[in-house]
Amino acid sequence: MKHLLPLFCLLACIGCGQNNRNDHAEVKNLIYLIGDGMGLAQMAMLEIESDYAPTAFTEAEHVSLITTRSANNRVTDSAAAGTALACGAKTNNSTLGMAPDSVILYSMMEHARDKGMATGLVVSCYLQHATPAAFYAHVWKRHMTEQITDDLVASNFDVMIGGGSRWLTEAHRTALTEKGYTLAFTREDALAATSAPLLAMVEEEYLPKAPERGEFIPQATAKALELLSKDEDGFMLMVEGSQIDGAGHGNNAAHLLAEMQDFEKVIRLAVDFANTHPGTLVVVVADHETGGLSMPSGKSDFTLSESGIDYRFGTGSHSAIRVPAYLYGTGSDRFEALMDNTELANRIMEIMKLKE
Ligand SMILES: [Zn+2]
Repeated sequence: MKHLLPLFCLLACIGCGQNNRNDHAEVKNLIYLIGDGMGLAQMAMLEIESDYAPTAFTEAEHVSLITTRSANNRVTDSAAAGTALACGAKTNNSTLGMAPDSVILYSMMEHARDKGMATGLVVSCYLQHATPAAFYAHVWKRHMTEQITDDLVASNFDVMIGGGSRWLTEAHRTALTEKGYTLAFTREDALAATSAPLLAMVEEEYLPKAPERGEFIPQATAKALELLSKDEDGFMLMVEGSQIDGAGHGNNAAHLLAEMQDFEKVIRLAVDFANTHPGTLVVVVADHETGGLSMPSGKSDFTLSESGIDYRFGTGSHSAIRVPAYLYGTGSDRFEALMDNTELANRIMEIMKLKE
């Protein structure tokens, strides 16, 4: 009789493994939300200014703290960090989709495209800017915008919405039209599109700041989800909270809050989509923190009653602190508590079977 107990345990353990809801569940869709310059302090600011009411961030099922250094600098720029988050490899600051030795690095979105999945980018900067370009461009320097635009046109991604028409030549437009793209140059035309492929460049360079641009980024996210989710092979969508970074560089707390509030609406849409579409993984992360934001008590004697909170910036540049990754939906339990930005990207590719 005494031999039965270990056997029973063994069988019970096998049963447990099979019952874990995420263990073997297929991740079909990825919604990758990158807050450029969004560190933990930026997220805390949103919480404090929302009076601690639940936000879309509060929905996170798992959290990971991410290291961000680049191959040649402990303080990364958006190009190297974007490359790490898109391709799962370190490169030097300023370089996009290419290793320090010039070997081309392919992004998870290029792998997804090659696998037949639908692919999309939505940003409030220009589409050739560092974070979105990390998903399709392969250039030595991030400011090689003409060459990046060539790579954008060659990417064949299904939905691209942002700014950047200044660099879109007649030859680019002809090539895209021949490939069947709908081209949109106003926000109205972008939101009126009914099928992919779609390239919407609604400004010459950057879109206006939040809140001047209204609800456009959440609306464009909803449009991208509508168009991409028609593909039965699944999709990968990256939406960037692009101008959180600019607010940090400008040490502008009011603008920063407006950008965080806008980005929170995008996260809400992603969470709602994941709730109604099983097999969807939502990853909310930052490429780095911008501004060295801190929030000390308004008065040095904080032992009394509330005396306000100061938003103080330590730099007009980026900082080296870890950034949080918020994980939601199918596969969200397959990340470690502490990861490097390259490990995060490689884990996503592993979960989605995008890389051998
Ligand atoms: Zn950045």
